[in-house]
Amino acid sequence: MSEKTLSITSLRSGGLITNYHCSSACRHCLYRCSPRWPKEYVSPETTQENLRTVRALGCHSIHVGGGEPLLNPSCVASVLEIAGEERVSVEYVETNSSWYRTHDDACAILALLADRGLSTLLVSMSPFHNEHIPFYKVRGVIEACYVTGVSVFPWIAAFIPDIGVFDETTTHALEEYQEYFGKHYLENLSRRYWISPGGRALETFAKSFQEKSLSKLRGESDGCMELADVNHFHIDLYGNYVPGLCSGLSVKREDLGTVLGQHEYPIISRLYSQGIGGFVSHAEKKHGFRALRTTYASKCALCYEIRRFLLIDKGITSKELQPVGHYLYG
Ligand code: SF4
Ligand code: SF4
Repeated sequence: MSEKTLSITSLRSGGLITNYHCSSACRHCLYRCSPRWPKEYVSPETTQENLRTVRALGCHSIHVGGGEPLLNPSCVASVLEIAGEERVSVEYVETNSSWYRTHDDACAILALLADRGLSTLLVSMSPFHNEHIPFYKVRGVIEACYVTGVSVFPWIAAFIPDIGVFDETTTHALEEYQEYFGKHYLENLSRRYWISPGGRALETFAKSFQEKSLSKLRGESDGCMELADVNHFHIDLYGNYVPGLCSGLSVKREDLGTVLGQHEYPIISRLYSQGIGGFVSHAEKKHGFRALRTTYASKCALCYEIRRFLLIDKGITSKELQPVGHYLYG
């Protein structure tokens, strides 16, 4: 029987990651962004190539995210301009509001971006973000949006009453929330916030998931169909396409539309055809991987441990295990 092969031949909805460097280091961050990442931003050339590829594969609108894109407003302005030229609409730009300094300064930045075509700002607001960003900055950015005519997409407004309990001029650790709202606050957050089981959420919510034994995961041979999901894809500043929401895995932009075969994409093709069971037994036999635990919160937690072992412990460099910062700075 021939093995299932993956090829990404069309894209529905997704985002451009302009940078992984971030002023925050949220405990749920799928892309493991943080201040430790280098301050690298998407170039005009890569923006253009990424958008042309995305459009050629049928996706005519994107969002812009990071990291924190507005740490470099001129990069966002350039992305908006290029998107206009490439006839790709920008649904929204995401921000954590950390860049807010004064009302006038925020209005000047947003007016410049509105002039380049910014229509909507997705403003992050959550206890995760509040660990690193005082809420007065979030309020300040929202006020500046009203003044400059930029629409606000609050993500997620339902947290405002929780955040509002605390002093908005400073940051507050999740433990403070837990102390105030009760010991189940953190695990309940995973139901109130759309959390993908990847990135730092793997560690933060490890105890919230039903553990699966290693032997059970070894027996899972259904391929990871998540890799083929094109409903919320991302493409980054290095020209890496993130398959599904499997952060830390990458398909080179030039390879989109082609069959991702065993030779060029041994990890992704194996995960797609044989699932986590095939991946772990291959890593054990071929690379000497030994699982650190006997149970895992999810197949993705084991997948990440194997990938980290291959890259960090075995020193395997691969176009699939990208960006390496995901493993180095996470
Ligand atoms: S979730 Fe957003 S604000 Fe938080 S670390 Fe990740 S990119 Fe930065
Ligand atoms: S196990 Fe790996 S490839 Fe499969 S869905 Fe999870 S992160 Fe993606």
